[in-house]
Amino acid sequence: MESVDVDRNSTPSSSKKKAKRLPIDVQEEIDCLYEFVPEVEEHFLVVDKIGEGTFSSVFLAKMRHYPEIEQMFALKHIIPTSHPSRIEGELKCLQEIGGCDNVIGVELCLRNRDHVVIVMQYFPHIKFQDYLMHMSFQDVHNYMYNMLLALRRVHMFDMIHRDVKPSNFLFDRASNRYALVDFGLAHKAPLSKTSSLSNPSTPQADRNKAALSEQQNNSQSSASTTPVSQTSKGTPSASPADPKADQYTPPTPNLSNSVFVKRVKSPRRLLLAKRALMLQEKDDVLSQRKSGVRPYRPAQCQCFGKPQICSLCSSRSNQNAPRAGTPGFRSPEVLMKCPDQSTAVDIWSAGVIFLSLMSGRYPFFRANDDLTALAQIISTFGSEPVKEAAKACGKNLICNPAQKAVDLRTMCMKLRAAPLSKHHTKRGFKIDPATEQSWKNVPDSSFHLLSRLLDLNPYTRITAAEALEHPFFVEMAEREAEGMS
Ligand code: ADP
Ligand code: MG
Ligand code: ZN
Repeated sequence: MESVDVDRNSTPSSSKKKAKRLPIDVQEEIDCLYEFVPEVEEHFLVVDKIGEGTFSSVFLAKMRHYPEIEQMFALKHIIPTSHPSRIEGELKCLQEIGGCDNVIGVELCLRNRDHVVIVMQYFPHIKFQDYLMHMSFQDVHNYMYNMLLALRRVHMFDMIHRDVKPSNFLFDRASNRYALVDFGLAHKAPLSKTSSLSNPSTPQADRNKAALSEQQNNSQSSASTTPVSQTSKGTPSASPADPKADQYTPPTPNLSNSVFVKRVKSPRRLLLAKRALMLQEKDDVLSQRKSGVRPYRPAQCQCFGKPQICSLCSSRSNQNAPRAGTPGFRSPEVLMKCPDQSTAVDIWSAGVIFLSLMSGRYPFFRANDDLTALAQIISTFGSEPVKEAAKACGKNLICNPAQKAVDLRTMCMKLRAAPLSKHHTKRGFKIDPATEQSWKNVPDSSFHLLSRLLDLNPYTRITAAEALEHPFFVEMAEREAEGMS
């Protein structure tokens, strides 16, 4: 399923400004959040909604009892159908990996039954589409450097982010800061790799480990400094350090036999429907208590091995939502469903972002499904090279007719020079002359790095640590130093 991120704002409503009136549906959602997790209301004043993905809603909040604290927070309310192990995984990543090298950290986690709210520092950012065409070549260089820094950090832990895309890599243009967010899909890279004929002697995982030991002295010490604290009143937080974390509290209301499930598609609507049901169930329980009738619900599952579903199991909500990245950012090995996936999948996605930055086109690959995405990759990189890469992953790819590869530099520069999209021209958009000038003499090293990030073969694709040492970054640092002297 494609995760769609709706980024509603870029700058926080200043705490000095009068509280603005929120759209009614947003206010309704905030009320829902307060109701699901009362501790949110206890500690935070939620002022707006800032994002909505397929599996979460993100809100902007400030501390209720400390108005003098300027720091704003991003509260990520994870949709309760997410499997507990997923939520645990997300938290673990934020806690262990986050807080340095452009990876967002976690401040706190609040939980009430199956509702989990991850509290992070608010990171102001603007939408990719809104800054893409304003980026000078130097800006792109900085952007890619910072993204690779974040990926090197994540990959050191043998974690694959699996959803690297602009809406998960936040950029604060005003302060030139970056943050990799959203570990909702992150997964441990397979440690024991299945043998592959064309697997070179140094598999990705080993290369990452080498980078880790090299890095250990520098950055490792600052890891996991942000605690995921236990919330007040002894509510166990879903922190992985918490032994109770994997005890899954039975879900709140029963939605399984509800008419809502069929009608309500969006997670947000589902939450609202759930709240309505919650209130209704509360009423039912009260009236049952009054009449002295108690609904029968077994304490333990009674259907195991039997061709029936017991009332306990039928009252469980759907826990397993299918999750996957976004087709246009998926690597060939992911699109071809190769079982042996490594951190190299994130490098491909970073390459696709780089391709957008170099060509000024976003999204670069616009595909709703895997086969269309693969076809677009073939039309850019040629059928023979893709076939070869498929072979390296143990797949036999047949494509007809044969397609030739395009030259990346020629393509990017042509796209850049082509008339701008309606999106830009409508707003009376103009590129700053200095920015335009910066694109006149793009060094070859940038396209070489681009081709190394977009290496079709995951076994030979460059790693984040290697990419940071690439001449593209070295040369640019030298140029900068020359310019300064
Ligand atoms: P999802 O898993 O639903 O995609 P994300 O973690 O990607 O959730 O958050 C969705 C959106 O919310 C992001 O694209 C971003 O715009 C916003 N967001 C997430 N975390 C923060 C943060 N710490 N500060 C500011 N905005 C954030
Ligand atoms: Mg996201
Ligand atoms: Zn059962």
